[in-house]
Amino acid sequence: MSESQEKRARDTIHDRIMILNELGIFNVPVETEVDVELQIDGNTVSGIVDGIELHPDSGIIIRDWKSSIHEEFYKRYEKQLQFYTLALIEQEKQVSSAQLVDVSKTIESKNLFTREINIDPSSLESIVTELRAALKGILEGDYRPNPKPETCFCCDMSRLCAERVD
Ligand code: SF4
Repeated sequence: MSESQEKRARDTIHDRIMILNELGIFNVPVETEVDVELQIDGNTVSGIVDGIELHPDSGIIIRDWKSSIHEEFYKRYEKQLQFYTLALIEQEKQVSSAQLVDVSKTIESKNLFTREINIDPSSLESIVTELRAALKGILEGDYRPNPKPETCFCCDMSRLCAERVD
């Protein structure tokens, strides 16, 4: 990215944060970049939650900020937030809700635009089952790539991965 592109990106982020601030979105106590982990069969799965809103009476709200919510990634987002929920419950937090925030739509509509994620006990249980199966595959060396343009384009490994599709 050139210097001017970088400056433009920084300015855009700054402007967006100012608009979100004016909308009062940050007027509640929030913890950001919260480290979480889950122990499954002696293995550790970890992640970082964008932010949790603290509501002493009703429990916390998990918020994951997306510049836009892409429908094709929705299942992935859902599993991500269900994992965060489980990990925070493990820390004895009372989670009342888990939400994706669509920043573009929030800016456009001048209203907080969120999508609620299902965190009922049976969904959380299926995430544990999926994680257990994924960990088993990894430990047995069975983790074949599943290249798709929509996932490869935003994958952190794409510059190294020989399987990448554009
Ligand atoms: S770049 Fe490689 S590791 Fe990343 S999603 Fe694509 S196939 Fe998977």
